[in-house]
Amino acid sequence: VKGFFHLLSSRQFKELLLDFQPVGTEDVSLDSALCRVAAEDIHAPEDLPPFSRSTMDGFAVRARDCFGASESEPSLLSVIGDIRMGTVPEGLAIGPGQAARIWTGGMLPPGADAVVMLEYVREIAPGVIETFRAVAPGENVIEKGQDCQADALVVRAGSRLRPQELGVLAGLGITEVRVRKRPLVAIISTGDELVPIEQSPSPGKIRDINSTTLSALAQEDRCGVVRMGIVDDSLDHMLNACAQALDKGADVVLVSGGSSVGNRDFTLRVFESIAGCRVLAHGVAVRPGKPTLLARTGNRALFGLPGHVASAMVVYQVFVRYLLSVLQGTDPEKGSLRIMAQCAEPFPSATGREDYVRVALDRSAFETGGSGITCPAARPVHGKSGLISTLVKSDGLLVIPRDSEGLHRGEYAEVIIFQ
Ligand code: AMP
Ligand code: MG
Repeated sequence: VKGFFHLLSSRQFKELLLDFQPVGTEDVSLDSALCRVAAEDIHAPEDLPPFSRSTMDGFAVRARDCFGASESEPSLLSVIGDIRMGTVPEGLAIGPGQAARIWTGGMLPPGADAVVMLEYVREIAPGVIETFRAVAPGENVIEKGQDCQADALVVRAGSRLRPQELGVLAGLGITEVRVRKRPLVAIISTGDELVPIEQSPSPGKIRDINSTTLSALAQEDRCGVVRMGIVDDSLDHMLNACAQALDKGADVVLVSGGSSVGNRDFTLRVFESIAGCRVLAHGVAVRPGKPTLLARTGNRALFGLPGHVASAMVVYQVFVRYLLSVLQGTDPEKGSLRIMAQCAEPFPSATGREDYVRVALDRSAFETGGSGITCPAARPVHGKSGLISTLVKSDGLLVIPRDSEGLHRGEYAEVIIFQ
């Protein structure tokens, strides 16, 4: 068996991925923009809110008229009118000693700079109130432009649009956004032993798990998915499947199985045989996932993933997801949620490789330094990387750095949380 020619560190592998360019853009309506990535900076076309509004039911006043007001020395004000919701308070300028009734969301009249809550006001005669609470200028008021000012940057290029980003765009009347196209991910499972999941495998065969897990992961990353099905261990058939995937416009082709250096492992030769395709990496110093291949043609990437079901998923989460971030123009270091956890047991490792250990988190196991703040404890889920059930039992992947010989019980480590 040939060895790997040259193992890259995970850092070196990611640097190859950083070299890819973001995919093109498209304009989508706000309603279908959730979780898409903004392709350009978005500035507010106007002030939000467009006028100063009350946040309480009460009376619009000049704050200075209520200065020092208290139970024993209330301020006396004359009520000059009632501000109807959704209208402009015409002719209701608040002069010294005056107030106007206002409701939550109503437009502050000229002259007023604060709202006294209804609870702090007594009507002592028709049209005359006294307030026994002082208010500061701006109290109980959202100023015009306080949410965002005209021309302010409200959404940065490269940010993923969450409900709150969509909300601010809605408030500003922006009904369409320019977003990155969804990268298209093609999925190819290889192996003479694989059968489609609808079939009951004859002796010696197993059902194809990777097509399902990898396409689900790509869906989590809001990518388009095209499934190329199962291909047997044959150079020609694999080459044909890759060519078809590229023909269909795949930005990323995931070939699982056959990525190692055995005689029946064809992926390297397949990638080398694709016209215009360069193999950038074969072998990366991570565990699981060492037999990972990366090739590139134009701005399209082809990954050779290990066939073992857990390894394929780990390599996806560590490297494929990273590339999909780059292709979508988001910060790839923020592609997955990472938290700190404390090791509930020792985690052995060896230097020279990065370990991604499947872990279950126990959210209340450790209390840090008597502070009352708890840090989740990470417990390894033991099992071979061919066992999909290990991932079912896991909450994430604990990262043991390259230089570490392992972690002691109680040590802190980073855990990549599964979405
Ligand atoms: P390979 O990387 O091709 O040597 O495959 C490693 C192991 O993963 C073998 O036991 C394969 O049978 C298994 N394997 C490969 N592809 C899949 C798949 N799509 N679903 C389930 N197991 C697979
Ligand atoms: Mg195989």
